[in-house]
Amino acid sequence: MGKTVLISGGGIAGPALAFWLRRGGFVPTVVEVAKGPRPGGQTVDLRGVSKVVAERMGLLPAIEQRQLHERGFEYVREDGRRTAAMPMELFDGAGPVAEIEILRGDLAEILADATPDVEYLYGDSITQLDQDATGVQVTFASGTQRRFDLVVGADGVHSRVRRLAFGPHEQFVQHLGGYSSYFTVEAPEDLNHWMKVYTAPGGLWVGLRPDHDPRFAKALLSFRSPVIDYDYRDVAAQKQILQTRFSGLGWHTQHLLNALPDAQDFYFDSTSRVAVPEWSQGRIALVGDAGYCGSPLAGHGTALALVGAYVLASELQQADHTRAFPAYQRRMQPYVDQRMELPPGGIKMAMPMTALGIKYRDTTTRLMTSKPFVGLTSKLMIGKPDAIDLPRLGGPLRVPAEKTE
Ligand SMILES: Cc1cc2nc3c(=O)[nH]c(=O)nc-3n(C[C@H](O)[C@H](O)[C@H](O)COP(=O)(O)OP(=O)(O)OC[C@H]3O[C@@H](n4cnc5c(N)ncnc54)[C@H](O)[C@@H]3O)c2cc1C
Repeated sequence: MGKTVLISGGGIAGPALAFWLRRGGFVPTVVEVAKGPRPGGQTVDLRGVSKVVAERMGLLPAIEQRQLHERGFEYVREDGRRTAAMPMELFDGAGPVAEIEILRGDLAEILADATPDVEYLYGDSITQLDQDATGVQVTFASGTQRRFDLVVGADGVHSRVRRLAFGPHEQFVQHLGGYSSYFTVEAPEDLNHWMKVYTAPGGLWVGLRPDHDPRFAKALLSFRSPVIDYDYRDVAAQKQILQTRFSGLGWHTQHLLNALPDAQDFYFDSTSRVAVPEWSQGRIALVGDAGYCGSPLAGHGTALALVGAYVLASELQQADHTRAFPAYQRRMQPYVDQRMELPPGGIKMAMPMTALGIKYRDTTTRLMTSKPFVGLTSKLMIGKPDAIDLPRLGGPLRVPAEKTE
């Protein structure tokens, strides 16, 4: 029997870590608070090293099958007319719409399918962690107790593992001034493969993104706001917040609000940044959003989760946790720092508060995508290569023969 590892969180980082640990001879168990793989979310993109990791996992064929072929991103007015656009090909997939875009729910499902040999405990969560020299005693909400060699928190921005073993939420999570919600609606118009966003004064975004099935669309409601006091597990309260904020707005807003009460794949969260100085405490470590997250504004959460899981598994393959956990952080930190950087202007530029601000943003976007400037914009978007040398990190992971590059 290999070492046992309990992973809290069955989103992206959790199953990715379980995948690699299983192949390295460990015995991973994933505990996920939801009743099954969580659907929902908009598209997430795979570029650079995260695409290499997906390729090494043998997932690219499944990902490409479910890939959304988006044509680009456009801002629209309340009557639906385009005010500015960023076509995908203009930036060769390096702009806001990447070469590989996949629905987050699809990726979660692909990862769950890729780990049939992993034990998943759905509908449960950790309530207590007691570690000693030889292992971690874990108490679950269901009342059961089990012992594991190691525990990894892959349970997202509101990580329970981080709270139990590292410190309170507020110590590590910084609110960046906004909230976002995603859910599926019947498409109110033919999106023709474009992501469309209507911005209303007050820092309000109403968006639609294509689904596989053109009869449906992925809705987005985002707004700027200081911290709101609400229960992050109370879905009804979250839906009410949106009804109040977005009531009376134009374009397809009312259609989205009408769909809200019955939305099954509803997701709502704050735009937050997570920074934990030390990613491990003894036998317990963090991976993905639980330990490092630049927020959807920075836009690399899935990449960091996939690469973080790969690097952590790689280090655990080569040394025991006392050396592997710090080595994982040393190797990942420069890449994490790089990809947690916010785009210039941050939330203020993307979601202006005034009509004048919206006009300024749209004019700037048109200018950036105009012939004289598109080369320069493209260079800025492509940015620097990923600050991690992934091939050297692969180490001796026992990748199945058919899944190597
Ligand atoms: C439903 C959903 C939709 C999302 N949609 C988008 C999107 O459209 N755009 C975007 O940029 N980012 C989105 N995100 C966040 C994005 O998935 C992450 O930023 C990124 O992929 C890193 O993944 P992660 O595995 O670290 O965290 P996550 O993907 O957030 O996964 C964390 C998992 O842990 C589970 N969990 C939480 N608390 C506990 C607990 N106490 N015990 C056990 N399990 C727990 C959650 O249910 C979730 O499945 C979404 C997340 C979720 C959960």
